[in-house]
Amino acid sequence: MKLNFLGVGTASATKIYHTCFTIQNNNEHFLIDSGGGVEILTNLKKMNIDISGINHVFLSHIHIDHCLGMLWFLRKRNWQSHDGLLPLNFYGSKKVLDDFKKVMQVLLKKEFAKTGTLINFHEISDGQTINIIGLDFKFLDTHAKKDEMFGFIASDGHKKVAFVGDEILKNELYDTVRDIDFLMLDALCIGKENKNVLHLRESLEDFLTRTQHSSVKTASLLAKELNIKNLILFHTLDNYKLRKFRYKNEAKKYFNGKVFVPNKFDKINIL
Ligand SMILES: [Zn+2]
Repeated sequence: MKLNFLGVGTASATKIYHTCFTIQNNNEHFLIDSGGGVEILTNLKKMNIDISGINHVFLSHIHIDHCLGMLWFLRKRNWQSHDGLLPLNFYGSKKVLDDFKKVMQVLLKKEFAKTGTLINFHEISDGQTINIIGLDFKFLDTHAKKDEMFGFIASDGHKKVAFVGDEILKNELYDTVRDIDFLMLDALCIGKENKNVLHLRESLEDFLTRTQHSSVKTASLLAKELNIKNLILFHTLDNYKLRKFRYKNEAKKYFNGKVFVPNKFDKINIL
């Protein structure tokens, strides 16, 4: 199992694209979220991931930095429609799928009328496990505060990776992810200097509470408390030249396990 990062940024990021990655098993890819724009197509190409080879996609929630790239992905995939193209399996909660179908109706209708939609929608529910690309995905309600959001635990039978969306990890999931091999956590920034970057009038702490995001410190303390083996920090601002180095150093102050701070185009082998 491998993670391929097409983007790692929060909504305000402009250089590292928004949250978007594939989980790869052998030669198959499962696309997780899509970032916010057409850059998804550029980034898939740069990572040598063939768009017509992606037959499974998942949207965690309907925020522009996670779902709008899917429109470009679907449009491009449909354009490449040919006899050998398999139907696309599209996973999400009922609310996410209902909302995204409305967006598709308005923005993709004509394109899709030409060739047929070739999409099978799969409504997922809390606790449901589905085998996708040869891996078990247990889908989870993340108990997000801003909007309904789902994540999952992916397992290859040896290692487990948890993706819990882009809000601070909620108490309801502590026991679910405790002791896990790899945990992906939202980590927007490292500290007070980001107040200027974000042009905040309120305190950084108030901003993080209101937006339900984490600092690297908060995420790392949670990872320590929950005995996580490997921590993956993503969904970040893109303003640091030395972001990877500085985020890692900050995390190491609070967490003893291995820390990954991926940039776009980075890969993480889940071993
Ligand atoms: Zn986000």
